[in-house]
Amino acid sequence: ANKAVLGPLVGAVDQGTSSTRFLVFNSKTAELLSHHQVELKQEFPKEGWVEQDPKEILNSVYECIEKTCEKLGQLNIDISNIKAIGVSNQRETTVVWDKLTGEPLYNAVVWLDLRTQSTVENLSKRIPGNNNFVKSKTGLPLSTYFSAVKPRWLLDNVRKVQKAVEEERALFGTVDSWLIWCLTGGANGGVHCTDVTNASRTMLFNIHSLEWDKELCEFFEIPMKILPNVRSSSEIYGLMKAGALEGVPISGCLGDQSAALVGQMCFQDGQAKNTYGTGCFLLCNTGRKCVFSEHGLLTTVAYKLGRDKPVYYALEGSVAIAGAVVRWLRDNLGIIKTSEEIEKLAKEVGTSYGCYFVPAFSGLYAPYWEPSARGIICGLTQFTNRCHIAFAALEAVCFQTREILDAMNRDCGMPLRHLQVDGGMTNNKILMQLQADILYIPVVKPSMPETTALGAAMAAGAAEGVGVWSLDPEDLSAVTVERFEPQINAEESEIRYSTWKKAVMKSMGWVT
Ligand code: ADP
Repeated sequence: ANKAVLGPLVGAVDQGTSSTRFLVFNSKTAELLSHHQVELKQEFPKEGWVEQDPKEILNSVYECIEKTCEKLGQLNIDISNIKAIGVSNQRETTVVWDKLTGEPLYNAVVWLDLRTQSTVENLSKRIPGNNNFVKSKTGLPLSTYFSAVKPRWLLDNVRKVQKAVEEERALFGTVDSWLIWCLTGGANGGVHCTDVTNASRTMLFNIHSLEWDKELCEFFEIPMKILPNVRSSSEIYGLMKAGALEGVPISGCLGDQSAALVGQMCFQDGQAKNTYGTGCFLLCNTGRKCVFSEHGLLTTVAYKLGRDKPVYYALEGSVAIAGAVVRWLRDNLGIIKTSEEIEKLAKEVGTSYGCYFVPAFSGLYAPYWEPSARGIICGLTQFTNRCHIAFAALEAVCFQTREILDAMNRDCGMPLRHLQVDGGMTNNKILMQLQADILYIPVVKPSMPETTALGAAMAAGAAEGVGVWSLDPEDLSAVTVERFEPQINAEESEIRYSTWKKAVMKSMGWVT
């Protein structure tokens, strides 16, 4: 059969907390040609612990690549047109593995995991000089969320990890490093690297000098020899060593939130996007300046698209639990069978009837950074039913976004006039309308919502030596969008928001 003739194609691995995807784009039109997705297991071995199996993550990537290539075959598209692969990944999640056997030495410790709470408390008592020691170098508050404390915990508690470090067999990485090392050959010559965006989430990386920081590594007692090489987000790291795409260069790497910022074309100072996945992450491009927040936001590396290209920074508002609350209603309460079903429940009532749900399962992140908070559902009456609780769960996602948007507006001094959104939850139309009502500005969603993968594909396609994707603003395809305009009045929106804040106060102080 005649294979369809197309421009060069670029693939992207989107390795998230809930699922893994592989997607293939046409580099000339940014059109999505085919994809495959596999949901991932999460393990909760103890209260507050969240783990994933690094082998399952890796196998899901291979499975998605193979299945996508089969689908392309059925569409008569020749996979030899795929010229590059980008990787975007859940950030902060930590893997430590043995470089001789290629085996993980422990499960991946997921960003949401709370086991390091006492590690964080002990470290915070020992912070040298002023309290700003970690923040001024990394842009991050000392928290269980970021990587460094996870390998610290493994070194303190897992004999296998200690031994491998002593014997110089251990390698550390975030999920991007683990995947790229495995995909480029693993124990047989795999490349041990990460990019500046992922490195900026470890608490070990100096975001000004763009290097691992010796003082920070000493403070967290992490041996520097286990750390990956830090590269830009767009350059050839290595070639695929196996599978249908053997020999194709891996040439893009971005943490998922940075990838979404690129995929949403937020290249200008002041442009922002909010991604609704397991958590919710609002990033605002601050250009080449490192802006420090006065209102609980993080400073992070946005991207560096090439070895010789400048680094861009972002202010970030991170919310730990967004889509995860929907998954919790599905898996722990069983009031829905699929995540999509929540929309039907919420639609039935169209209000939470005074019920508020603060899903502080992992404490509260931005703008509070309150590890003592835990989830609460309040304002219940005899009348409350599961539909109201479902509605309150969706509303919680919107209120949390309102809090980080308010913080962002205060830090930037120039309020956002609309909010660009993406992520799995944005398929939910009720949620998007509620969001517009609660923010009282329009919410704008690209009609191709896979912006995380698109960003990784753009970085991979634009890399030196690949050069199939132009990042020149004039060449970037116009994005078609769906808009949600605010419909309720501002006063009503303010009343709801102030009651939400009361509920948040009640969620604090549960753990001492
Ligand atoms: P991640 O990148 O963190 O893996 P995704 O962007 O893939 O997350 O989004 C998946 C999350 O979105 C899951 O937590 C799921 O419960 C939630 N989700 C997916 N579809 C819907 C929907 N229609 N309504 C509400 N939540 C949804």
